[in-house]
Amino acid sequence: MKRIAILTSGGDAPGMNAAVRAVTRKAIYEGMEVYGINYGYAGLVVGDIRRLDIPDVGDIIQRGGTRLFSARYPEFATEEGQLKGIEQLKKFGIEGLVVIGGDGSYHGAMALTKRGFPAIGIPGTIDNDIPGTDFTIGFDTAINTVLESIDRIRDTATSHVRTFVIEVMGRNAGDIALWAGVAGGADDIIIPEHEFDMESVANKIRDGRDRGKKHCLIVLAEGVMGAEEFAEQLSEYGNFHTRVSVLGHIVRGGSPTARDRVLASKFGGYAVDLLKEGKGGLCVGLLDNKLVAADIVDTLENKKHNPDLSLYQLNQALSF
Ligand code: ATP
Repeated sequence: MKRIAILTSGGDAPGMNAAVRAVTRKAIYEGMEVYGINYGYAGLVVGDIRRLDIPDVGDIIQRGGTRLFSARYPEFATEEGQLKGIEQLKKFGIEGLVVIGGDGSYHGAMALTKRGFPAIGIPGTIDNDIPGTDFTIGFDTAINTVLESIDRIRDTATSHVRTFVIEVMGRNAGDIALWAGVAGGADDIIIPEHEFDMESVANKIRDGRDRGKKHCLIVLAEGVMGAEEFAEQLSEYGNFHTRVSVLGHIVRGGSPTARDRVLASKFGGYAVDLLKEGKGGLCVGLLDNKLVAADIVDTLENKKHNPDLSLYQLNQALSF
C-alpha cells in the first residue's frame, strides 16, 4: 500500500497522539503517504480528511486527548454510513485505514473490512476492555492517575478515621479498579467480574477498626454501581463514617506515561508494517509481552477480554 489514513474514535485515551505520531512517521519513513481523518467516523463520512506530514505530528507525543479529535457517531453502524465512508476513502485514493479506539471503534473497522476495505484496529481506551491484547493504550496512564488520587484520599481517610468509597471509570470492565486498587493498597476492590457480599465488606471494615486501623479504602468500578448507592447499601450494616469520591473524567486526560507512549509507538509502527505488506482486517495487540496481529472479525466475534483475576485474589490476601 502507498496511501493510508488514520483516525481516532470513541473515548479519548492518553497515548492516542503518540500512536498517531508513530503511524504517520513510520509510514512516511517507509515511503508511504498518510492522511489524518478528524472526528473519527463522523469526519470520515463527510470527508474531513487532510494530508499529514512529519511536522503535523510534532510536539504531540506527550499530550493527552487526541489531536485528530474524536466523536460518537452511531450512524456508522448503518450500511449507508459505511458506504459513504468507503466512498470518501476512495475519493482520496486511500488504500488502508488505521483505527485507534475501543470496542465500538473496532466494530467500525470490522464493518469496513467486511465490505472489502482493509482496516487495522489499534486498542486505545483507558478501560483496557478490548479482546486480543493484555493492555490498551491509555490504561497505564489512567491507573497511575487513579493511584495518585487514592494516595491523596488515604491521607484524609487516615487523619479522620473514615471509610472512602472511590468510584473509578472502566465502563463494564473492572481493570482500572483492580490494578489501581492493588497498587493503592485498597481494603476492598469491587468489580463487575467478581461477586461481592456487602456484609463481608462491612465485617472487614469492622475487623480493621478493631485492630486500630484508621483508614479504609474501597475502590469501586463504575460498572458495578455508583459510589453513593454503594455507600448507602453499606450503611445498612453499620456506621463506618463513609465518604464518597467519584473520580470521573479526571482519569481520562493527562500526559501519557512512558509505558503508554512506548506501547502506542509499538502498535503504530506495527500497524504500518502490516498495511505496507497489504494486510488488513486485523487488530494489533500485546499478548504475553509480544506484539501480535489477529483477525479483527474473529477477535470481536469469538474472543473476550478477561481481567487478571489473580490480582483480585492477591488483594484479598493482602487486605484481610
Ligand atoms: P470507548 O470504549 O473508549 O468509549 P469505543 O470505541 O468503544 O471507545 P464507542 O462510542 O462505542 O467508543 O464507538 C466509537 C464509534 O465507533 C461510534 O461512535 C461509531 O461511530 C463506531 N461504531 C460503534 N459501533 C459500531 C458498529 N457496530 N458498527 C460500525 N461502527 C460502529
